[in-house]
Amino acid sequence: MTGRPLRTVIIGAGMAGVAAAIKLREAGHDDLVVYEKGDSVGGTWRENTYPGIACDLPAHLYTYSFAPNPEWSHTFAPGAEIRAYFERVARDRRVERNIVFGAEVSTLEWADGRWHVELLDGRCDKADVVIAATGVLHHPAYPDIDGLGDFEGPVFHSARWDHTVAIDGARVGVVGTGSSAVQIVSAIVGRVGELHLFQRTPQWIMPLQNSVTSDDDKARYRTDPELLPKLREELSASFVENFANAVVDADSPTAKLMEDLCRAHLETDVTDPELRKRLRPTYRAACKRLVVSPDFYVAIQRPNAHLVTEPIERVEAGGVRTADGSLHGLDLIVLATGFRVDRFLRPIEVIGRAGTRVDDVWGRRPSAYLSVSIPEFPNLFLVNGPNGPVGNFSLIDVAELQIDYILQLMSLLRGGGCAEISAAASAAERVEAERVEAAKRTIWVTGCRSWYLDDRGVPAAWPWTMERFREVMAAPVLADFDLVELGGGPLI
Ligand code: NAP
Repeated sequence: MTGRPLRTVIIGAGMAGVAAAIKLREAGHDDLVVYEKGDSVGGTWRENTYPGIACDLPAHLYTYSFAPNPEWSHTFAPGAEIRAYFERVARDRRVERNIVFGAEVSTLEWADGRWHVELLDGRCDKADVVIAATGVLHHPAYPDIDGLGDFEGPVFHSARWDHTVAIDGARVGVVGTGSSAVQIVSAIVGRVGELHLFQRTPQWIMPLQNSVTSDDDKARYRTDPELLPKLREELSASFVENFANAVVDADSPTAKLMEDLCRAHLETDVTDPELRKRLRPTYRAACKRLVVSPDFYVAIQRPNAHLVTEPIERVEAGGVRTADGSLHGLDLIVLATGFRVDRFLRPIEVIGRAGTRVDDVWGRRPSAYLSVSIPEFPNLFLVNGPNGPVGNFSLIDVAELQIDYILQLMSLLRGGGCAEISAAASAAERVEAERVEAAKRTIWVTGCRSWYLDDRGVPAAWPWTMERFREVMAAPVLADFDLVELGGGPLI
């Protein structure tokens, strides 16, 4: 490596942090440490271990482009397999040695041209560059339901599954009907005694089948190195055409087709007209994040499954009381109530130039230029940051493109072209205004409540196509950045 040596801190060893470490090392950034608060890699796949967890993107698409995996067992891989994959890639690519586990970053402060990094346990570090790969769906959202603390049995969030609690034969309540709840219900209904699903809003369900990969296919993937990259390309093209580009154009025929498929699934596969009515959404498919499941309707029609659509009044010692006065007796409550999606870097205290705090800048809502850089926070880059393509594409593709983009900015720092780089406030404002305007055409604003919407009702997501995202990430527009030269003055 030539040029100015840079020390880089990456925060988080989930999918994005591991990818960043691998790509930085490949680019010759060897002075690198990854701080991970957990005890192993995998991020969301380490934390979410609920029964039935799987990725609802095809496994060969939800795979690093640089580490194909011939061994995926199913079309949609189970969570434990995905976690094992990230662990294996980190080990094989020898970035495990760059990771410090049990290391939670508490403060980042920009002082004297470097980031001063403080960990919760008091350890300190300094870095020229910080890459935050802290995840999006990371901080559980707990519902504000009266009496939750009065329940006599166990209560836990879907992302904090307590495997010491026996569910066989138990009366289980699941709150929520998002992707997590649907996977949980399908997986446990055959084991529990009674299952009560507390639904506030019905979901459209896309019935994609999850096939087992044959031994023959795995053998072919192992022996022919061209097959998996080609398959990944095909899956990506199909996903973009059939989903990603449709959700950003609510009037597209593909958006309509998605809804037709979901509606046909409901009308055909749910036999009781009364249950069908209660399961039928009154908003457009994919307005909320589309739920994928081949067997949820089978599960909810079992004799021991009860769909509860009366609003929850309160929780009592013995169960959940609904607005019609009924008490639903339970032994266990699972809160599949989603995540606080506006956190990103936080709760880390981040202090940029002149004492500017991320918490203040993000007072109303988080934002970053192209999701990657925050004005006045030099040499701090985010992977899967605010308002990115969180619901549109494979987050792995998104992370890889963003990391390559960040590496180009880091080349400027390493080459001595500049000492500090951060998005210009005017550029961040311009892109944000364009984004808000484009969001008006998306499916996410067609009349539903969802975690995509910010406090203004604007989707906190990338409202354009994948092609546009690739174009924008291909090369930074330097005029959109504030560059400070070595020694102090502005470059442009
Ligand atoms: P979610 O989609 O945010 O769903 C939360 C559910 O909890 C909703 O049904 C919501 O109802 C309900 N809820 C929240 N507060 C409530 C309250 N006080 N009373 C009653 N119901 C309440 O959460 P999630 O299912 O964990 O999924 C989050 C995201 O994670 C997904 O959208 C997806 O992006 C990702 N995920 C992906 C996979 C995968 O296979 N790749 C699997 C799981 C999750 P309302 O709809 O009425 O708000």
